[in-house]
Amino acid sequence: MLRVAVVGSGPSGVYTAQGLVQQDPGVLVDVLDRLPCPYGLVRYGVAPDHEKIKSLQGTLRTVLEHERVRFLGGVQVGPGGVPVERLRELYHAVVYCVGAAADRRLGIPGEDLPGSFSATEFVSWYSAHPDAADSFVLGARSAVVIGVGNVAVDVTRILARGAAELSPTDMPQSALTALTASRITDVHMVGRRGPGQARFTTKELRELGALPGADVLVDPAELALDPAYADPSALPAARRRNVEVLRDWAERTPRGAARRVRLRFFLRPVELLADGGRVGAVRFEHTVPDGRGGVVGTGRYEEVPAQLVLRSVGYRGVPLAGLPFDAEHGTVPQSAGRVLRGGAAAPGEYVAGWIKRGPTGVIGTNRPCAKETVASLLADAATLVRAEVPEDSLTALRALGIEPVGWTGWRAIERAEAELGASLGRRVVKLPDWDSLRTAARRAS
Ligand code: NAP
Repeated sequence: MLRVAVVGSGPSGVYTAQGLVQQDPGVLVDVLDRLPCPYGLVRYGVAPDHEKIKSLQGTLRTVLEHERVRFLGGVQVGPGGVPVERLRELYHAVVYCVGAAADRRLGIPGEDLPGSFSATEFVSWYSAHPDAADSFVLGARSAVVIGVGNVAVDVTRILARGAAELSPTDMPQSALTALTASRITDVHMVGRRGPGQARFTTKELRELGALPGADVLVDPAELALDPAYADPSALPAARRRNVEVLRDWAERTPRGAARRVRLRFFLRPVELLADGGRVGAVRFEHTVPDGRGGVVGTGRYEEVPAQLVLRSVGYRGVPLAGLPFDAEHGTVPQSAGRVLRGGAAAPGEYVAGWIKRGPTGVIGTNRPCAKETVASLLADAATLVRAEVPEDSLTALRALGIEPVGWTGWRAIERAEAELGASLGRRVVKLPDWDSLRTAARRAS
């Protein structure tokens, strides 16, 4: 049998495992994850009110329950866990599907003021990631979300939703309580370029217009700065639809709802301003199109009040000790999924997902990405078999002091989350910290 380790149990890792076992009956796959819970960003990134996308977990589950796939949670690869070099000795091949765990930085003064967070920190908090900050300051009345991608839309929507809409989700109780008590009335979602260049997808954008307790406000004068506003026909279809939705909203009369989502464009953040030791406003410079898809500053500035700032300007891959890293792109150098060391394919080392191609695309984009990597690995299979690879890596992992959380441990966590939900009069409620996850997993043994 060809023994393969897939590092990371998010969509790219699970699609890789699926491709391997479906295409070759002689492959055994261990899917390793640092967390005791599988599914990566489907569990810890997809917004809790996006139940349809979350239900994808059902599809990923069938892969992890395949007879030749084994989930090994709570296994850190790299420093403090299994070094990359050791992992390579334990398997014929290793596929790194570790995503892009860091946030891009704005690089402007005040970025780290209290009250300013990366959108990822906020997402981790309401998604119950065990490494998330345990409380979020929501004494704010005005929030600024910097960036106009789908993550920005997610966090804007969650801030603008009311208790009745959030309580049916699996959001942890502490986040639900804090968001329910939120006094935020205005959420400003701000793009540095125009509506024709915004990165959100139309389906996600439209959801903002359907929020029961919030008006969406768009300034037609800001839209009109974009040459694509007058004639969106020159834009690619997806972007044209965005402009059409925004144009429609700009013509709407607000209903006088309790909350307002303000979509702003052509504003480049230049500084976060302090007020009493915390963030109090964001200073933006007005921009105009440069005719080449970019923008130039006008020298005119505007301050938008904000006691909460969420910087949603994209993710970034982080280097893993022992693996080569392209710092400019935040990815591992690769060719068709084969890791390149010094320009040559490293035997038995592969990548898939965001660490391979960068943090772009939707969940489904990981399917063809994983398919390409699987094809490379299986084409190399004959050269990968080595006699010294152990029959079962579990003994070797235990010798390193690692006791993985297996599938039964994860199922016990799921049961504990259902029980917690029932005790709170809600549906499933996620366990938000390491202790409760470990305690629940131990109940399996
Ligand atoms: P993204 O799509 O890359 O958007 C990043 C946003 O940040 C862009 O508007 C970008 O503007 C802006 N930005 C970057 N640097 C900036 C700076 N220095 N100052 C101001 N603005 C700046 O990233 P994302 O929203 O994190 O999403 C990551 C991926 O996950 C995307 O592929 C997304 O579609 C996907 N995702 C999908 C869903 C869904 O399908 N429901 C949900 C969440 C995430 P410029 O364009 O001007 O650079």
